[in-house]
Amino acid sequence: MIKKISTLFVFLLFIQGYSQDTYLGDGPYSQLIIRGVTLINGDGSPPRGPMDIVVENSKIVSMKVVGYPRVEIDPDDRPKLKQGGHELDANGMYLLPGFIDMHGHIGGDAQGAESEYVFKLWMAHGVTTVREPSGRGVDYTNDLKRKSNSHEIVAPRIFGYTGFGQSSATFNPLNDAPLSTPEMARTWVRANAKKGADGIKFFGAEPEIMAAALDENKKLGLGSACHHAQLSVARWNVLHSARAGLTTMEHWYGLPEALFDDRTVQDYPLEYNYQNEQHRFEEAGKLWKQAAKPYSEHWNKVMDELLELDFTLDPTFNIYEASRDLHRARRAEWHEDYTLPSLWKFYEPSKISHGSYWHYWGTEQEIEWKENFRLWMSFINEYKNRGGRVTTGSDSGFIYQLYGFAYIRELELLREAGFHPLEVIRSATLNGAEALGWDDKIGSVQIGKLADFVILEENPLVNLKSLYGTGAIKLTEDNEVVRVGGVKYTIKDGVIYDAKRLLADVKAMVDAEKAKNNWELKQPGIKN
Ligand SMILES: [Zn+2]
Repeated sequence: MIKKISTLFVFLLFIQGYSQDTYLGDGPYSQLIIRGVTLINGDGSPPRGPMDIVVENSKIVSMKVVGYPRVEIDPDDRPKLKQGGHELDANGMYLLPGFIDMHGHIGGDAQGAESEYVFKLWMAHGVTTVREPSGRGVDYTNDLKRKSNSHEIVAPRIFGYTGFGQSSATFNPLNDAPLSTPEMARTWVRANAKKGADGIKFFGAEPEIMAAALDENKKLGLGSACHHAQLSVARWNVLHSARAGLTTMEHWYGLPEALFDDRTVQDYPLEYNYQNEQHRFEEAGKLWKQAAKPYSEHWNKVMDELLELDFTLDPTFNIYEASRDLHRARRAEWHEDYTLPSLWKFYEPSKISHGSYWHYWGTEQEIEWKENFRLWMSFINEYKNRGGRVTTGSDSGFIYQLYGFAYIRELELLREAGFHPLEVIRSATLNGAEALGWDDKIGSVQIGKLADFVILEENPLVNLKSLYGTGAIKLTEDNEVVRVGGVKYTIKDGVIYDAKRLLADVKAMVDAEKAKNNWELKQPGIKN
């Protein structure tokens, strides 16, 4: 019996290994007809179906309404399959534009997360485009970008935003010197563009350096993102960046500072130390209430100026969620099957790992953060209501947030902020495309655009949870508890990927890592 099981196990490993190495999706096809879908577009229009979507190679060439709900479709009215064409029966399913993750780190050494793991989790959740902020350097990102474009690997389309000042050794003639003058900043920005980067990810710098770099970058027509670290926000907040030409802000730091009307610096306790992340995150949770009140004169003024500048907000709500509900984030049901042991270790309380600030995190910290979220969400929702662009970014790989799954959680949090589910989808698709300057190619289902789609059996507007790889729990008419949903197909550039197969690959990777050291997900013990 034991021998039988081990033979089977080896066989399964073989199959699994085989599939990981060789499965690169199906297509593209000279013609692909996706039959019978209800289209939920990224442009704010309501769902419509049944429709047949026709793709040739990587582009959408026709979209045809072929009938009415629950009425039999007349086959003569449907687009005809050409010789060599391929049909995908998606009758009754929902089709959306491919999702855009505007803040996606491609793993990291500290997390022990490699690109294949990260990419498959994203693609399994319908993420077909990722803006990669800094991460592992421009050469690393460029290499993966090229492989993704040529379908050599299973991966979303990548936009690389190099960390400002990063890998300066590769940017001769600056060598390794820190960027300490505006001229050095400009030289670096030009070198970055020459390297083929799509933009820059800033973390804050001296005001004259930020101004020079943003100015030069804008002249070159590249995008920019900034996490306004607390170290620089007293002199340079979100408004300064937006005026200087920054295209998107990440997270939320630097925005309360722009909204201060009765102080000039955050109310830091006098023993605060930025290198202590419990200090950093705990005090950040009290920051929004130090800013001007929602709908007050100053609050409105700042919002209106950002709107005037066509500035994009990329809030990444999910990455802060553990701050208001640690238990929820730690015990998310997907950790068991899909979180790598090394990633779990990275998440655990630590004075060193970034985002592992749980030195002693309790009720008081969570209550502060709940209020912080409420004030923050009211700004984001109103910004959207006044015509501002809000995008969807995940920032996964930190703080118990797992690639792909956390992106879906971000959709739920935009919903919580007050977005209509259709506004949520637009934020995840067309808004991201606009922010990347690619809205003529991706972001909505439209003739002439690239064939990037998410297809699933459930209606995600009714329940965004149906997009999670682990699906949503439902009681059937027969009193049976089942899981429904999960993305069925992710299509990128006309190539069809079986999303569940990608997830199975990820589970096999995680199982293999666990087997190596007999690892099991352990919880901290009680100290007697
Ligand atoms: Zn980040």
